Amino acid sequence: MNIGILGAGQLGRMLALAGYPLDFDFVFLDPATEACAAPLGEHIHADYDDEHALAEFCVSVDVATYEFENVPAKTAEYVASRIPLLPAPVALTVGQDRLSEKSLFDRLSIPVPRYMPVATREALELAVRSIGLPAVLKTRRLGYDGKGQAVLRAPEDLDAAWAKLGSQPLILEAFVPFETELSCLAVRGREGQMAYYPVVENVHRDGILRTATPRPEHPLQAAAEEYARRVTEHLGYVGVLAFEFFVSGGRLFANEIAPRVHNSGHWSIEGAETSQFENHLRAISGLPLGSTALRGHSAMVNFIGDAPANADMAAIPGVHIHHYGKTPKPQRKVGHATVTAASADELTDRLQRLEALVRAVEG
Ligand code: AMP
Repeated sequence: MNIGILGAGQLGRMLALAGYPLDFDFVFLDPATEACAAPLGEHIHADYDDEHALAEFCVSVDVATYEFENVPAKTAEYVASRIPLLPAPVALTVGQDRLSEKSLFDRLSIPVPRYMPVATREALELAVRSIGLPAVLKTRRLGYDGKGQAVLRAPEDLDAAWAKLGSQPLILEAFVPFETELSCLAVRGREGQMAYYPVVENVHRDGILRTATPRPEHPLQAAAEEYARRVTEHLGYVGVLAFEFFVSGGRLFANEIAPRVHNSGHWSIEGAETSQFENHLRAISGLPLGSTALRGHSAMVNFIGDAPANADMAAIPGVHIHHYGKTPKPQRKVGHATVTAASADELTDRLQRLEALVRAVEG
């Protein structure tokens, strides 16, 4: 079976790495010259609105998916009108706009931090008065890894935040004094069957994910699964969906969904019976879903800006190294490593050694 992927970054690369053992072949469409999935398949090097390239993409594959949520709506419509595009484009429409995402959560009775749309400077004043401070001002579209947002702590912060972000539609959210951040990775098959990975505890610095650790038997597992089920069923979703939450006062508050495989699920390559990448491919190709059960203890550490030397990392037992083939650059995700261990104590020890190496080179 030929699988088409819109986007050829590291997620596309890891999808292909999971797909070859299943006898799948891959075609990527991505305008980037340095597209790190390109060596793993055929790369159609073109813009997302290039109809000639899209037509070539559609005739080359049996089913298509995407590895980033900002696929232009017209591109998704074009592809979906010719071949199965999974998850269906409605997931992109919802996920691309923080306001439509939050109103969907509201409609599905999923708790969210208080929020208000902000279109003008006056509306920002009103929203701050209604929601209070601290609060987070975010662009409705195209924000990722903490980009396109500003934390407002005092009334004096409004001018600078407006100057930075005010040229686009915005949303103001209450700042959640969270205990932890959790994500739930759910996968839904073509017949509506569902599987869930254990919730993952995520640690961010400067808005970028640094470590992700699956937490089996977490007290909020059932609630996270229930919210992911509501969203995927409502959207008629097929594939892996990542649902990010804040935990505050022991309760979940929805932050955002990503309609794709997700950085907080990379540990599943070595840490679960079936990785998120394989399960996404199984779902979109109509295969039965694989077990999401854990294989021992594991955690993932991202390489941001640069990666430690292989020789240093490989000296730590249980470390599995994944370079993405990207040129090092400040704040760029260039790879990750997953640590596996037979016990929680062993994992903590190995993780601390790995994190020390990563912190020494990151930028
Ligand atoms: P986002 O792009 O919305 O996922 O935001 C990136 C990171 O900023 C989140 O993972 C949180 O660490 C932090 N953040 C975003 N929104 C809020 C909020 N309403 N309250 C507290 N922290 C937030």
